[in-house]
Amino acid sequence: MKSEEHKEIPEYVGGCLCNETTFIAKGEPINPHLCSCSMCQKSSGAPTIAWVEFPLETFRWNGTRNPGLYQSSEKTQRCFCQKCGGLLGALNDGYSNICITIASLNNPSLIMPGEQHSFKESAPLWWDPHILKQKKGKSE
Ligand SMILES: [Zn+2]
Ligand SMILES: [Zn+2]
Repeated sequence: MKSEEHKEIPEYVGGCLCNETTFIAKGEPINPHLCSCSMCQKSSGAPTIAWVEFPLETFRWNGTRNPGLYQSSEKTQRCFCQKCGGLLGALNDGYSNICITIASLNNPSLIMPGEQHSFKESAPLWWDPHILKQKKGKSE
């Protein structure tokens, strides 16, 4: 059994719409950002996706159904629920992190995207995502 004493490593849980494909990601969130590339739009049906990365080492799928993988470009596979189609992640060949859609977290408020907005110019013209200013920590 694991010790309860050192619970410092943050843990994020999430899953798809039908909740059969779920995951646990451990560790500090890496590079939370927005992307509005055409592939993100087409794969999600949304104008923009908020992404975050976690090390593959400490990430695991733990639902009753494994994700389906769609090869969306030469080096990228998108992970989706094979039942409800919910887009959960993306894997890049040779990359040690998995990208996870922040909105698939059970509590998407836990991770706030930074300033980076990839392919902003590809977003629909009517769309202007607004990111709240990061709340300041206890001390500066
Ligand atoms: Zn599902
Ligand atoms: Zn994208």
